Amino acid sequence: MAAGPFDLTGKTALVTGANTGLGQAIAAALAAAGADIVAAGRTDPVETRRMVEGCGRRLNWIDVDLASTEPLPRLAENAWRAFGGLDILVNNAGTIRRADAASFTEADWDDVMGVNLKSVFFLTQAVARHWLDAGRCGKVINVASLLSFQGGIRVASYTASKSGLAGLTRLLANEWAARRINVNAIAPGYFETNNTEALRADPDRSRQILERIPAGRWGRPDDLGGAAVFLASPASDYVHGVVLPVDGGWLAR
Ligand code: NAP
Repeated sequence: MAAGPFDLTGKTALVTGANTGLGQAIAAALAAAGADIVAAGRTDPVETRRMVEGCGRRLNWIDVDLASTEPLPRLAENAWRAFGGLDILVNNAGTIRRADAASFTEADWDDVMGVNLKSVFFLTQAVARHWLDAGRCGKVINVASLLSFQGGIRVASYTASKSGLAGLTRLLANEWAARRINVNAIAPGYFETNNTEALRADPDRSRQILERIPAGRWGRPDDLGGAAVFLASPASDYVHGVVLPVDGGWLAR
C-alpha cells in the first residue's frame, strides 16, 4: 500500500523533553505515525518509551541538560547515529519562571532564555548542518506559545524567549526553505502539564483562563499530536515559517 502524506514510517525524530507533558505526547504521536524516537533530556523517559514501543517503534534516550550549549554538537552527533540519520527535530524542552517584572532576576532571565531560545538555536544549527552537508531534507518543529503573540504577565523571560522563537522560526525558514528544510512552530494554548501547575492551582487565574477558551476546556497533551504529525510529514512540504496555534480558539477570541 502506498504511504499516505502523513506517514512517518522509516523516519527518525529527535524530541527534546520527551519524558513528560507535551513532548511526551508529541513523541507518542510521531511514533504512532511510524517514526522512531531519539529522546533528549535529563530525565529517563520511562513512560514515553513504553508508549513508543507500544506502537512497535524504538526509543533511544540521550541524557543531556539543555541549559548550556556545550553538549549540543555531541547530542546532534549521537542522535544522528542512534538509528542511522535524523529526519525530524522537535524543540520542545522549555522552562518558565514567574515573578513581577520589577523584581525579575538576571538568573531567571538567563535560565529561561538559555533553555527556551539559545539552546534551541544551537541544537537546530547542529542538526541542520548534518542535513545541509548531506543534502538531505529535514523538518524542524519548535514549540512556541501564545506568548509568541501576546505579552503575558509575570513571565518576562518566557515571553521574550517564545516571541524570539517565533522570529527565529521565520528566519530559519527563510534561510533553509530552498534546501528542503521546513522550519515551523506549534503554539500550544493552555495545556494541563507541569508548566501550568501554578496557574491551575490558582482558582481565580484558572477560572479566568477557562472562561476565555472558546473550546471550553484546557488542552490535553494528546491534542497536539495531529499538528506535530502534520508538520513532521510530507503533508507540510510546502509549509514554511508558520507558528500554528493549537489553542482551543484562544487567539480567535
Ligand atoms: P513540562 O511538563 O514542564 O515539560 C518541560 C520539559 O522540558 C520536560 O521534559 C523538562 O525535563 C524539559 N526541560 C526543561 N529544562 C530542561 C533542561 N535544562 N534540560 C533538558 N530538559 C529540560 O511542560 P510542558 O507544558 O510539557 O512544556 C513543553 C513545551 O511546551 C515547553 O517549551 C513549554 O514552554 C511549551 N508550552 C507549554 C504550554 C502549556 O500550557 N503547558 C503552553 C505553551 C507552550 P524535566 O522533566 O527533566 O524537567
